[in-house]
Amino acid sequence: MADEIMKRLYRIVVPLPNSPLKDLNSYVIKGGDRNLIIDTGFNRGVCYEAMQKGLAELDIDLNKTDFMLTHMHADHTGLVARLASETSKIYFSRIDAKVFDKDVSWQPLIDFAEINGFPAGELQKALASHPGLKYSPEEIPVFTLLDDGDVIECGPYRLKCIATPGHTQGHICLYEKDKRILFSGDHILFDITPHIESWAYTTNSLADYMASLDKIYNLPVNLVLPGHRNFLGDLKSRIDELKIHHRERADEVLNVL
Ligand SMILES: [Zn+2]
Repeated sequence: MADEIMKRLYRIVVPLPNSPLKDLNSYVIKGGDRNLIIDTGFNRGVCYEAMQKGLAELDIDLNKTDFMLTHMHADHTGLVARLASETSKIYFSRIDAKVFDKDVSWQPLIDFAEINGFPAGELQKALASHPGLKYSPEEIPVFTLLDDGDVIECGPYRLKCIATPGHTQGHICLYEKDKRILFSGDHILFDITPHIESWAYTTNSLADYMASLDKIYNLPVNLVLPGHRNFLGDLKSRIDELKIHHRERADEVLNVL
């Protein structure tokens, strides 16, 4: 089912069975000449059917549709190869695109776990059933790479990319200044707390995440559209809550140590 959020902007709720996330918000902008779909759902039948149904309701022609993926997780990227047509552009973070590079992909995580004594066999077993691998796109899509500050235009929407590392290193939010909308991906969620990525401790993801919260704190925003669940929250007060949450958890860890 597709809900109208405002003129030319819709949400398709894509179920994610057996995932604590429950579902994914795929946002659709009807742009006139070309449409834009922001995030897609896992590469699995139940998600594909929900997207097909929603897109049919909205009368979306995939031959006139481009995609933007907020970050590399399979619940956001998984279906893009099945939905994209030959003319579709797939906008995606230059940094997160590295995970789709077959030569690099998940290896840093595997190496790091082994160094720390995680049994190699157990790790392979865990990865084989990991939804991030099982439900990722079967072919590596051809991406149009995005950097901080790039702009994607679709009809009356002018979406500025804001690099917001933390949830993933290459996470991107989209900001529509005139309409005061922030597509927050998994950087800001209201009903649940975004997890902070940890692949190989090559970066301080929590410090990055806190800086990325500061980066968007003062944006004039009336509507935050997150990757999961409800969008009935206020940006500043949610950032304040997320910061307190991480402060408390960090203090708990320090106490344990
Ligand atoms: Zn995510």
